[in-house]
Amino acid sequence: MFHLFDDTDMNAGRLRVNIDRWNPDPRIIARAARVLRGGGLAAFPTETVYGLGANGLSPDAVNKIFRAKGRPTDNPLILHLAAPEQAELLAGVDGRAADTMKAFWPGPLTLVLPARAHVPKEVTAGLSTVALRMPDHPVALALIEAARCPIAAPSANRSGRPSPTDAEAVEADLGDRIDILLDAGSVDVGLESTVIDLTGRKILLLRPGGTPAERLEEFFGEPLETPGDDAKRRSPGTRYRHYAPALPVYVWTPGEGEKMPRSIDPSTSGFMGMTPPSENFARTILFDSEKSYARGMFAGFRHFEAEGLLHIVVEWPRSQGIGLALQDRIRRASAC
Ligand code: AMP
Ligand code: MG
Repeated sequence: MFHLFDDTDMNAGRLRVNIDRWNPDPRIIARAARVLRGGGLAAFPTETVYGLGANGLSPDAVNKIFRAKGRPTDNPLILHLAAPEQAELLAGVDGRAADTMKAFWPGPLTLVLPARAHVPKEVTAGLSTVALRMPDHPVALALIEAARCPIAAPSANRSGRPSPTDAEAVEADLGDRIDILLDAGSVDVGLESTVIDLTGRKILLLRPGGTPAERLEEFFGEPLETPGDDAKRRSPGTRYRHYAPALPVYVWTPGEGEKMPRSIDPSTSGFMGMTPPSENFARTILFDSEKSYARGMFAGFRHFEAEGLLHIVVEWPRSQGIGLALQDRIRRASAC
């Protein structure tokens, strides 16, 4: 079904192509770049999660992302860049934004800035702003560079599902809807980027993510405004139930008197967290830090689904570092 390549060497015609994270084969990168320049969809690894990429300057290509994911079209996309200098072609970049890029890029931080007029409205969902990020992953950077265009890329999952942290998850959700999938193994961070809005005097935290809010507050020397209703309007993606596996997700806070939810039976449920539960769960996944919890949570969701369990119980993490982003994803996966 996939006849992407006209030459017949390595992996010709295959959807999923292995690529070395630290030393990406330029021939494979060139093929994926050709897909993108031709208006197709290429899924690729970043340090946060796997992305579903399209040429960010082509409305037709960007529309394919929305169709493949079943994503609401009022949810804007992040444009991925290979260098901070490219930001100026797409957005108004003031001194504060330039300093932020210098300090945090490449990395899991997305900046919302005033959009230039030629950025397609399919990318911005009609807003006057655009979200930009430079990912910290050699494969992603090589691909963006070779494609010679910004790449619009949300997570490579069906809309509403847990984000994919490896190529298997991408293939399971979108295997019949993409033109090529670059497989560089599991990602590092496991949760999406932090999104901040730099268009006003105050800095808004639109979505907690891979860059801890504390680090940003230290850098800016001021507290970030937490998203109220106004910010939710500004960042439509934060409104939706999201990141959810097919099984119901329950939250457990460890500590005295905190009982497991009564409606679940541990013998048919999976548990994920950092504190060993006293109940005997059918499957228990324990992490030794919030960082590894973040890296493994979405894969854990998919794992429990595949095992045919009935419920998932997740431990509520602490409100610090990446724990804040974990809380956000858990809140929306469980709709609690
Ligand atoms: P995703 O690519 O699915 O991880 O989501 C991208 C996130 O960035 C969503 O929460 C969007 O609402 C947010 N976002 C993208 N573009 C903008 C923008 N121009 N203004 C505010 N938020 C944005
Ligand atoms: Mg997503």
